Amino acid sequence: MKQYDYDLFVIGGGSGGVRAARVSAAHGARVALAEDHRVGGTCVIRGCVPKKLLVYGAHFAEDLADARRFGWNVPRCDFDWAVLRDNVLDEVARIEGVYQGILDNNKVETIKQRAVVTGPNEVELADGRRVTAGKILVAVGAWPFIPDFEGAGHGVTSNEVFHLENVPKRLVIAGGGYIANEFAGIFHHFGSEVTIVNRGDRILRHYDAQIRDRLLQISIMAGINFRFNAPFQRVEKQGDGSLLIHLGDGSPPVEADCLIYALGRVPKTPGLGLETAGVELSRGGAVIVNADNQSTCPSIYAIGDVTDRVQLTPVAIREGQAFADTIFGDKPHRVDYENIPSAVFSHPPIGGVGMTESEARNKLGSVKCYTSDFRPMKNVLANRNERALYKLVVNGETEQVVGLHMIGPDAPEILQAAAIAVKAGLNKSQFDDVVALHPTMAEELVLMR
Ligand code: NDP
Repeated sequence: MKQYDYDLFVIGGGSGGVRAARVSAAHGARVALAEDHRVGGTCVIRGCVPKKLLVYGAHFAEDLADARRFGWNVPRCDFDWAVLRDNVLDEVARIEGVYQGILDNNKVETIKQRAVVTGPNEVELADGRRVTAGKILVAVGAWPFIPDFEGAGHGVTSNEVFHLENVPKRLVIAGGGYIANEFAGIFHHFGSEVTIVNRGDRILRHYDAQIRDRLLQISIMAGINFRFNAPFQRVEKQGDGSLLIHLGDGSPPVEADCLIYALGRVPKTPGLGLETAGVELSRGGAVIVNADNQSTCPSIYAIGDVTDRVQLTPVAIREGQAFADTIFGDKPHRVDYENIPSAVFSHPPIGGVGMTESEARNKLGSVKCYTSDFRPMKNVLANRNERALYKLVVNGETEQVVGLHMIGPDAPEILQAAAIAVKAGLNKSQFDDVVALHPTMAEELVLMR
């Protein structure tokens, strides 16, 4: 007689939950996974995947314009949002099917219902059924933060953007982080007049100052508007359906056809019943876990955005893998959070790994920085006055490269490979020992003197 219905009950079918479920099942555990929306979670359904496809779609605006300088006789081209939107949504549905297939092939029972915790080893499903499990894994992710002011309900979030009827003529984006800068670039290229409204005076606070200043400068030159130190006061819906957005910076209200909130994402723990099992949450509602993803209730674990450690898909996947290997695979290991590369798929994109210059100065004292500020060859011929910037942050004592930050075409693609060298702790001289691969943009990484 088995003590519990399942060895593992996973709540949430996003990237982290699916990885944990299928690896645990492959290790021999009896696993069920509850998902009340669509398998794939934020990344697949309403995040990284559809966003990146829109970034590709937006890039054609530049590519088509540049093509003329490369001799192509490009006729007038029109953009059809509905075609791109529907193709992207079809692709999302295809990947959702792949994720479901992975669960099925690994004999994970998928329960398409909401599940809430009712005790250390018990969950209740939406149909009233109660099931028990030796371990419960909370992988419910995070949800866009919606601010609270008069008329705030007139705004939407990144969840709805992928389903818009039309490209808004005038788009206001609240926030200055990842989502704001990515959608600003996307919709600017689709023809929207975009305004980013930020509470502070800087975008992408966690990125290197020189790199984010370069993005700001390029975005302003491209025609994206910025309103800094501008808190929201209220939003009015006008007779023609447009929005009048009143800000607290003393400037006239901004008119818009769409307002998107990109103000961070909060752990999706409300109503999940975690308190019934004594699971402690942070002030922001994140599940507090130890280095092995275990909550304050020993049988309940949590991974991914719901723990609000590093809100990135590949991190959630690693946490899911570590959980499954440790608990069911007899191969205990922990996620290494040092030197996690990240990217912003803005126009142009940003990539970064390791310490920013200011972090290194605070932590190490002695720091040397090397930069390459150049106009990529393609931009020169295209008459595009956009300069790329690569920056190496080096420990002044040991010469170890402790940070690499880039903005420019394909920066995230280049950074992923270079991050191996940073993670491996290589020195500046070891970068310099590598012969340049000419002509590329990436060769700048080994030519900084
Ligand atoms: P970010 O944390 O990147 O940015 C949030 C922005 O909103 C900041 O400018 C912040 O200002 C501002 N803000 C936060 N709270 C408030 C508030 N109460 N009132 C007014 N302004 C506020 O969040 P996003 O929503 O852009 O993205 C959410 C997360 O999703 C990211 O942190 C990232 O982990 C992940 N993501 C990753 C992507 C990628 O890897 N390419 C792409 C998209 C999302 P301030 O700087 O002053 O705090």
